[in-house]
This record gives sequence, C-alpha cells and structure tokens, in this order.
Amino acid sequence: MNDPRQPPRRRSWAEPYKVKMVEPLRMTTRAERATALARAGFNTFLLDSDDVYIDLLTDSGTGAMSDRQWAGLMLGDEAYAGSRNFHHLEAAVREHYGFPHVIPTHQGRGAEHLLSQLCIEPGDVVPGNMYFTTTKFHQELAGGRFVDVIIDEAHDPESEHPFKGNVDLAKLRALIDKVGAARVAYLSLETNVNMAGGQPCSLKNVRDTCALCHEHGIKVFLDATRALENCYFIKMREDGQRSRSVKEILRELCSYADGCTVSGKKDCLVNIGGFLALNDDELADRARNLCVVYEGLHTYGGLAGRDLEAMAIGIAESADDDTTRARLGQVAYLGRRLTDAGVPIVRPVGGHGVFLDAARIVEHVPRAQFPAQALTAAIYLDSGVRAMERGTVSAGRDPATGANLIPSLELVRLTIPRRVYTQAHMDVVAESVAAVYEQREAIVGLRFTYEPEHLRFFQARFEPVEGTGILRAPAAASVSSDPPCSG
Ligand SMILES: *Cc1c(COP(=O)(O)O)cnc(C)c1O
Repeated sequence: MNDPRQPPRRRSWAEPYKVKMVEPLRMTTRAERATALARAGFNTFLLDSDDVYIDLLTDSGTGAMSDRQWAGLMLGDEAYAGSRNFHHLEAAVREHYGFPHVIPTHQGRGAEHLLSQLCIEPGDVVPGNMYFTTTKFHQELAGGRFVDVIIDEAHDPESEHPFKGNVDLAKLRALIDKVGAARVAYLSLETNVNMAGGQPCSLKNVRDTCALCHEHGIKVFLDATRALENCYFIKMREDGQRSRSVKEILRELCSYADGCTVSGKKDCLVNIGGFLALNDDELADRARNLCVVYEGLHTYGGLAGRDLEAMAIGIAESADDDTTRARLGQVAYLGRRLTDAGVPIVRPVGGHGVFLDAARIVEHVPRAQFPAQALTAAIYLDSGVRAMERGTVSAGRDPATGANLIPSLELVRLTIPRRVYTQAHMDVVAESVAAVYEQREAIVGLRFTYEPEHLRFFQARFEPVEGTGILRAPAAASVSSDPPCSG
C-alpha cells in the first residue's frame, strides 16, 4: 500500500462509520425455522423477513443510510416541479459521474426502460458483457436482441482472472462485422458484472471497448449500478492506479461512455431510486419527454424530493475510498472464511457477495433436483441466514422444448447489504455454511409442487424428493442447533 492518503501500517478494512441506531433481529429456534421453511415451500423468497436472522437475499435497497441521509429526508422539497433536491442530485451526478444531463427514475429499471425505448429499433442487436435480468428484458421489450460479448473466463467459477467483467473485443468486433454497425443499437457495458458474481472490468478494457464502438459510430451506455465497487477493484488490481482515488477513477471510467443507467439501490446507498445520465443534448431532451410518460416529471422521476436528497448525499458518501474499501473488505472477509473452511466458492470473490459452488458442494443431488435451491434451504434451516438460488431454478425452461435449462453455474448467492451487518454476523454466516458443508451428504433434492410460468424462482414451491425435511433424518439429529450465541 503506497497510498499517501493512508495512515502508515494500516492493515484493516474496518468501517469508516459507527452504529447510532439499531434494528433488533428475531432469533428463531431450529424447530421454528423448519416450520417456516416448509410453509415457504423451501423457497427463501417466500419466507417472512421476521423469520430471517441474517438476510443475504440481496444487496438491492437493503443498505443502511447515514445520519446525513436521514437528515436529508427532512429537507425534502416536495414541490411538483423544480425541487431543490433535484438540483442537489444533478450536481452530485455531474460531479461524480461527469454526465451533464441527469434524469431521476423510480429505480434502475426505470432508467433502462427509457434508454431502451429511445435507442433500440426492432431488429437491433444490443451487445453487453453478460446479461442482467431487467436490462435484457427492457432491451427485448423494445425489439432488440441481447448478445453476450463478455470474456469466456466470466463463465468459469475457478478462473482467477482479475477482470472477469471485461468485454472480449474480438467477439465485439466479430458481431459488428456480422450484423453491421447500423444494426447495433448501442453497447451496454455493465460495471462489476452482477450475474458474473460482481466481477469488474478494467479501465483499459472500458477505454478500448469504447474506442472500438466509437470508431464505428456506436454509442456506449454504462450500467453504472456498481461502478464504485468496480473502481476500487481497478485501484487495487490495475497497473498504475493504486495512488488514485475511486472518485478520480470513476470520472475517468465514465468519461469514455456516452451515458449511464444506475440503480441507486446499490452503490448510491438508498432504499429506492435510480437515474439516467447522458451527454447528448438531443437524446436527453427526448429522455426527459419520455420520463414524463412513465416515471413522472423530469425533475422527480417517480421519487419524492426527500428520496432525491438521500440519493444525492449517498452518491457523495459512496464515492469515497474508505467506504468502498470497507464494503469490499467485508465481502472478501466472508469469502476468506469460507475458503479457509474448505467450502468451494466462485473465485475471485466479487464486489457484492460470495457465491457458493453448489454443483460441487451437493454433488450427489442431480441438477434436475435443484442442488442450489436445496443448499439455500439447508443454510436457512441451520442458522436463519437467508441466501438466494442462482442456478437451474433461476434459469427456467427452454421456451422451445420446455426442458429445464441447465446453466453452466449452479450457485448459492450470499449477498451482503451495505453498512448493515457486522464482522460477527459474517462469522455466523461462515460458521453456518461450514456446518452445512460438513453435513452436505444429508441434503436431499427438491421437486416442484408449484411452478410459475415467468421468473419461476421468485414464487416457486418445492417439496423434498424423499422424507419431509431438507436433511435426511439421521444426520439431521446431529446438526448443531440455533445460531451460535456463545464462545
Ligand atoms: C439492480 C440492478 C438493476 C435494476 O435496478 P432496480 O433498481 O432493481 O430496478 C440493473 N442493473 C444491475 C446490474 C442491477 O444490479
């Protein structure tokens, strides 16, 4: 570490904030959890949050706001038009992301909707570095076709590539040659790629990718939802970046692109909100006009004035080295504890969570019996920790054949909300996952009792393929009970 801003011999990622207010959590017994799990059809999305001890379902809108942000809520200017909070947000986005035009939206997908409607013609292709659910959905709704141009390493859970979010320039060039630049609506470039496990792009890759697109007259829009986390990885991993601040790196990253969409529920440290930011005057005028139709007037975009204020303050708070260091440090800490316990996880650990390699952990459960779903249920039963399946259930069925799609990755996602849990909570998670790992052979597969037609992972219900519990009976008796509260 040769960052001149750091005190000497600093070794910890410790948080640059302290706790002022607490939210009590309910501790449950193993018997209560077994009942709750059965009631939820072995799907953690259907659990009541009151039955959850540590909630690692998602990092979206689940972060803790600062005292400044809470104070900002009281400064909400709820005028219909021209709220002063809008101007604060606009100034924060201009300062940190560098785009002159800022259009608030109710959340990230609102911005994606506007951008897709404005820039995609039916029959266009929209290349991107791995898909994200809502992003791809809006591209398709506008008549576009998503084409993945991420590097192959992103699909390999064991590849240690430092920038698994990078665009494969050869794939992008081949696509442009094949369909012609005129049929490429724009490149959708996601920072810290969510579906790849929170994996970053390098600054060099962003620069080269944007240069290639611009040579062909193709615009590049960032999904900058987790751009700051990406910038910290650039600082730590890319040549010549160590002494720069994440704030400086973010400005450079955005300077190569034509605009961005952001879900404020991630990096921007708010529970609701998002924005679209653009360079082009004419496109921005059209976006403001469409905003009125779908989101609300262009100075509030579906948000209250107080929400705009909280997001403006959150942007400045998150564009800070100590804050992003603590964020990524906590995720890395959990990853390290799990690796030390011998639990197979996706490497390298990404920005927003740790992904368990369920295909390896519960090898004895066939993919058609949803190993990651079963592992997610077993972790909840053990400790009340709520994770999410990202595997065969999430992948759904092939629309043509009706067969289950078997994705290359069968994962359980432990997503860490920002500024919410302590290191001791991470220890509980690691100990619970390690305990379940020890008992992995007792985990039984699942089958559907109800399978929804769309995005089935949210509402599906299951039952064990044998017995009534997620663990085979004899082994279940020897599993530790209740969250650890001593020693
Ligand atoms: C969450 C997310 C979105 C969508 O944002 P919402 O605020 O949930 O609508 C888009 N892109 C990425 C990468 C995300 O993580």
